[in-house]
Amino acid sequence: MVPPLQPSTTFVRNENYDLANPDNSYGRDDNEQIRLAERVIAKLEGGAESLLFASGMAAISALVSSLRRGDTLLLQKGIYWGTTAYVRRFAEHREVRLVEEDPLDLDAFRHCILEHKPDLVFVEVPSNPWIRVCDVPAIAECTRKSGSVLAVDATAATPVLFRPLQHGADVVIHSCTKALNGHSDVMAGVLTSSDPSSYYWRFALEERAGAGAILSAHAAWLLLRGLRTLDVRVERMTTNAARIADFLEAHEKIADVWYPALVSHPDHAVAESLMGGGYGYLMSFLIAGDRSAALKFCRHLGGILRATSLGGTESLVEHRHTIEGELTGCPENLIRLSVGIEDVGDLIAEIDAALSHL
Ligand code: PLP
Repeated sequence: MVPPLQPSTTFVRNENYDLANPDNSYGRDDNEQIRLAERVIAKLEGGAESLLFASGMAAISALVSSLRRGDTLLLQKGIYWGTTAYVRRFAEHREVRLVEEDPLDLDAFRHCILEHKPDLVFVEVPSNPWIRVCDVPAIAECTRKSGSVLAVDATAATPVLFRPLQHGADVVIHSCTKALNGHSDVMAGVLTSSDPSSYYWRFALEERAGAGAILSAHAAWLLLRGLRTLDVRVERMTTNAARIADFLEAHEKIADVWYPALVSHPDHAVAESLMGGGYGYLMSFLIAGDRSAALKFCRHLGGILRATSLGGTESLVEHRHTIEGELTGCPENLIRLSVGIEDVGDLIAEIDAALSHL
């Protein structure tokens, strides 16, 4: 029932010096355990192939590294600050032209694609921590015309709710550290493509082996265990998140709630068409007050832990400005909440109690 753990770093050759299994030579290139988890994820995404990496950032790095000097990268504004910081540094060092634009102004973004003909377009759905949902099919229509590769980081959606390849993206990225594993005990990242013969895919494969960025066999084994419950975890987290968003939206101490299930969310209609089965486990909200009020709210939470990351079975709260400072313009009263699988009544009672201190 449970696949065996195969942690070998190297594989024997026979008397003729042939590999016993031609796919297994050295653990930094590939191994059985990794391939098993990759097959599951490729199937979930409806993709042809997946490649597992030691973290989400390692996966992003392998993809972005396929760009050559003079190439152009179009990056969505206001996405995960770690990606933004990495890509800015990469572009500067490698003389890659970086254009940062907001895809939520769809006409401007489309114009930007047709004008710059970027080699890579990188968007995040939903974005972290602004929770915006851009129109991937409309953007894909444009990248097909410009010959650009469209990459979608769908970490905060999971393939249960959103499969970007089915909406015209070329490659989908996940930090499996988040909901795909779901237990906050594995660092991992994955790329999935519908075209394994493409240049960027061959590059990412070689980069993984060459730069030593492959996932460990132990981590892949744990990831497979996490994936077995992905569907039920996402269902519960998403239902909990929707209830909490409704509660927050009606609360007088909350200035704004960003969660795409809410009809007040600017991207509700797009989210409904892309993620019809639920709107994810991640939300942000603005405390009616300043930085100290936001930190006070966090201080008075008991069971909802103050920690970075998202997508685990446990709910986590984060004051993003403390983490990312001014890098992406995050408001000082913004709270990001990753909703777990706990009893939603308990979660709401705890949030309510913390808000009563403001
Ligand atoms: N993509 C998104 C949307 C993230 O939120 C994160 C991390 O928070 C990453 C990528 C990077 O993943 P990892 O921490 O596994 O490197």
